[in-house]
Amino acid sequence: MKTSKQYIDSLKELDLTVYLLGEKVEDTVEHPMIRPSMNSVAATYEYAAMPEYEDLMTTTSHLTGEKINRFTHIHQSAEDLVKKVKMQRLLGQKTASCFQRCVGLDAGNAVYSTTYEIDQAFSTDYHKRFREYWTMVQREDLTVDGAMTDPKGDRGLSPAQQADPDLFLRVVERRPDGVVVRGAKAHQTGIVNSHEVLVMPTIAMRPEDKDYAISFAIPTDTAGIFMIYGRQSCDTRKLEEGADIDLGNKKYGGHEALVIFEDVFVPNERIFLDGETDFVGMLVERFASYHRQSYGGCKVGVGDVLIGAAALAADYNGAAKASHVKDKLIEMTHLNETLYSSGIACSSEGHATASGNYYVDAMLANVCKQNVTRFPYEITRLAEDIAGGLMVTMPGEQDLKNDYLRPYIEKYLKGVAEVPTVDRLRVLRLIENITLGTAAVGYRTESMHGAGSPQAQRIMIARQANLNHKKQLAKDIAGIKE
Ligand code: SF4
Ligand code: FE
Repeated sequence: MKTSKQYIDSLKELDLTVYLLGEKVEDTVEHPMIRPSMNSVAATYEYAAMPEYEDLMTTTSHLTGEKINRFTHIHQSAEDLVKKVKMQRLLGQKTASCFQRCVGLDAGNAVYSTTYEIDQAFSTDYHKRFREYWTMVQREDLTVDGAMTDPKGDRGLSPAQQADPDLFLRVVERRPDGVVVRGAKAHQTGIVNSHEVLVMPTIAMRPEDKDYAISFAIPTDTAGIFMIYGRQSCDTRKLEEGADIDLGNKKYGGHEALVIFEDVFVPNERIFLDGETDFVGMLVERFASYHRQSYGGCKVGVGDVLIGAAALAADYNGAAKASHVKDKLIEMTHLNETLYSSGIACSSEGHATASGNYYVDAMLANVCKQNVTRFPYEITRLAEDIAGGLMVTMPGEQDLKNDYLRPYIEKYLKGVAEVPTVDRLRVLRLIENITLGTAAVGYRTESMHGAGSPQAQRIMIARQANLNHKKQLAKDIAGIKE
């Protein structure tokens, strides 16, 4: 297993092509806007090395028998699935950010079981290839970006029907030793902090979409790959000299990027699905369900920090004893624990796939994510209610550094007498960061659209609702005989 320092050093060895604010980034590791997101991924290595978190953060590989980071594990039991969610809650609590590494874990588990079933049907050897690939991922303790979302162009048209054929990633050339692909993947969480990218198709496909039915993994610095870093609200605060209080969360963050594949070569041994359109739906559904489970952990952990921050803001305002404030904190906690409940439930109800790894209960995982598209918004609303308007009107850090202004700010923005004004401002900036700033990407809008927009879960819920069974139950009770 890598230490967090070895992880950071290994990123320095990558030759990534990244553009940010219109310019090519020379050093992604040291860039002040990228660094906090890298710190979040580094935390997945750091906590794995701490004895008190060993049980959650590490496990034994079924491929090698060696101790591995759980972020590279192929789940072997329902208990593994439960521990995954607990690990994600822990890291959400420690980073108050998206720590990015789950996408590769979820992609790995989805590809593992799907390749097994493709091989059963077509006598291909994708599963063997994938096992060999994933053994390397575990041994080298790599961070893998799971890349699913294509730009999709006209949502009313299938991949092959698009006016521009590149709007879904596709094979543009076939060679004896591999394929050449072109296209893009949007909203790629953590790609700049990843060693590898594991690409999957984004929607179920028809036979005419064959060239779009492609899954593979390659290093993130492969020739032809480049990334355009996503902007976040308040992101340039990170570029301000000596920025601290105004960042709300100084050390951690997350990121997404638009990743372009401009005629990229993929060797045969790294291809895990190529043209088997019948199995694309299975792969998409499994990845989506695993990642919908994930949100029952990570968002809950960030929610814990937000609830704590709101409670602190109430303490510092002298409002902690007000019954409506207490009740709002109870409501926030109830919503947050409800998210966790479905994250745990879909894990405990997990079952073995044909390949042997464990898959979540897809109905409950989709219910989990559907709740995530709503509850963080209400938790956010209540946090802003408790925080008060000062969260968005208070002076900036530079004003506090001005000798003339500082005494006035300290005097007039004080809450309860014993608490330094600066602490009150700090906790309000943290709430701002999670609800409106850079972390809001992960806590708010990603709660809506990450792992699939709300309608995607409703389709999955409808598919599994088994209404005929429920109708029969009603008939039996009502005494209706046909
Ligand atoms: Fe992990 Fe959550 Fe970020 Fe997805 S959104 S990568 S589950 S922390
Ligand atoms: Fe996500």
